[in-house]
Amino acid sequence: MQQGKLILIVGPSGSGKGTLVAFLREQYPELVFPISCTTRVPRPGEENGSGKKYHHLSKEAFAQDIAEGKFLEWAQYGENYYGTPKAEVMDALAAGKNILHELEMQGAEQLRAKVPHEQLVIIFIDAGPWEELKRRIIERGHMQDEELQKREARYIKEITFKQEADFIIDNRNGKLDEAKARLKEIVNSVLIR
Ligand code: 5GP
Repeated sequence: MQQGKLILIVGPSGSGKGTLVAFLREQYPELVFPISCTTRVPRPGEENGSGKKYHHLSKEAFAQDIAEGKFLEWAQYGENYYGTPKAEVMDALAAGKNILHELEMQGAEQLRAKVPHEQLVIIFIDAGPWEELKRRIIERGHMQDEELQKREARYIKEITFKQEADFIIDNRNGKLDEAKARLKEIVNSVLIR
């Protein structure tokens, strides 16, 4: 049987990845959306409702899963750890299912080394230069200067991943509808049906 595709959505914090992934969930209910593990505490409302994104684990339980080789990749992001459960992804790929997964760049880098090139598709969401993202972040609410500087340093690292991606989506302010349409075009073009 032909193996499925693993489509990764990556992009800097604040690039709008979450909104685009929610859109894809609606459009492609037949895709597998793996549930990541994280040590981050749940945000209000996150535990309920459809489209569960995370299993929330203690740091000890997460470390145990690392030791047992349960993650296909894992990374530290800010104060927290995030990881992709290996069994869920490998079983789905082997069964010829297509997977859509959002993650940060260190994890995407690891998956590039593990998943055969022809099965992996990396889509980078580009929300423009730091100044524009900073404006969005500030508009969403007050943020300490120190935190803003950390975000900028992370942005500088994250934007370098753009050249590694197979596709880049322009999601600057006012481009959301175009970004959604382009994303659908790309997903339709790579899916194994
Ligand atoms: P948040 O805490 O805002 O939900 O996510 C923080 C970051 O972790 C985001 O960039 C998100 O894409 C990333 N992330 C979510 N799940 C995973 C995962 O399974 N592995 C890795 N490496 N990153 C993840």
